[in-house]
Amino acid sequence: MQRKQTRVVNIGGVGIGGDNPVRVQSMCNTDTRDVPATLAQIDRLAEAGCEIVRLAVPDEAAAAVLADIRRQSPVPLIADIHFDHRLALAALDAGFDGLRINPGNIGDEAKVDAVVRAAKACGTPIRIGVNGGSLEKDLLRQYGGPTPEAMVESGLRHVRMLEARDFHDIKISLKTSSVLKTVAAYRLMSEQVDYPLHIGITEAGTLVRGAVKSSVGLGILLYEGIGDTMRVSLTHDPVAEIGVAYEILRSLGLRERGPEIISCPTCGRTEIGLIDLAEQVEAALRGVEEVFTVAVMGCVVNGPGEAKEADIGIAGGRDLGIIFRKGEVVRKVRGNANLLPEFMKEIEKFLEERRTD
Ligand code: SF4
Repeated sequence: MQRKQTRVVNIGGVGIGGDNPVRVQSMCNTDTRDVPATLAQIDRLAEAGCEIVRLAVPDEAAAAVLADIRRQSPVPLIADIHFDHRLALAALDAGFDGLRINPGNIGDEAKVDAVVRAAKACGTPIRIGVNGGSLEKDLLRQYGGPTPEAMVESGLRHVRMLEARDFHDIKISLKTSSVLKTVAAYRLMSEQVDYPLHIGITEAGTLVRGAVKSSVGLGILLYEGIGDTMRVSLTHDPVAEIGVAYEILRSLGLRERGPEIISCPTCGRTEIGLIDLAEQVEAALRGVEEVFTVAVMGCVVNGPGEAKEADIGIAGGRDLGIIFRKGEVVRKVRGNANLLPEFMKEIEKFLEERRTD
């Protein structure tokens, strides 16, 4: 897999593009004006591995609290602004690390000048975000709808407005809720510019549907070397987006964070409540950053063999579970209620040994 070489932009110390890892970002769904709630969500996102968080800035009341939020945030922040250039200026004043704003939507040239001048002075990148649902009317007429070509043309219009002001700290996103259209749009854009691309499928849906659509769409793009930073959009707690994003990156061998948990699909030989056990193991390991493989298997006969690649695993039997490392049994545990606590102790032991190795 060869990643396309893009320019590097810097969002508050987090490099995007070039040889940097594909960055994982998300967006708060709190009311930005509610500072404690917004900060609490930023903290949860950061703990899950989110590297950059975007906040909506819908009005002056939201703009007024940005400095306070920025001061207390553990990760760089991007202000999402739709039309009002004063909100963009306020976000820059507040020390925000990035802007998401389309210069073509700001209004007259003087307002665009003001935002670009201020962003340049702060060294703050701007993301141009094209959304298939809100394309310019003339492009919809010209292309007969929100086609990938229309989206790319829209993005390039905004790009040219920034370039005309000698501003090149740019990222671009081209999102639709259609996987195939989104993939086609990013492919086209990637051929035309070397700005880093922020990839995502927008309005992807609820947890399962959204995760599948994002995995397919972003998976194709990343496999083709396209994409420098990503957001998995879900109609769900945004913290879940981070887990999905890292699983996509892990599946493609691009990045790893935290344990990989494999579990068998269960079958007629399953001897324990494996679905619950797998979910409990996953919950117990949430927040662990070390990279290792954990297996949760449904029977003692085939489990250790089927999961022999796992660093550590558990296989449940009728009132007798076994814990194994690389397929070799290391312990037997009596009583199903003891499986999870004993397994967690063994995982801690395994990690401790590895740390001191
Ligand atoms: Fe079935 Fe055992 Fe394989 Fe799980 S590990 S799928 S329970 S045979």
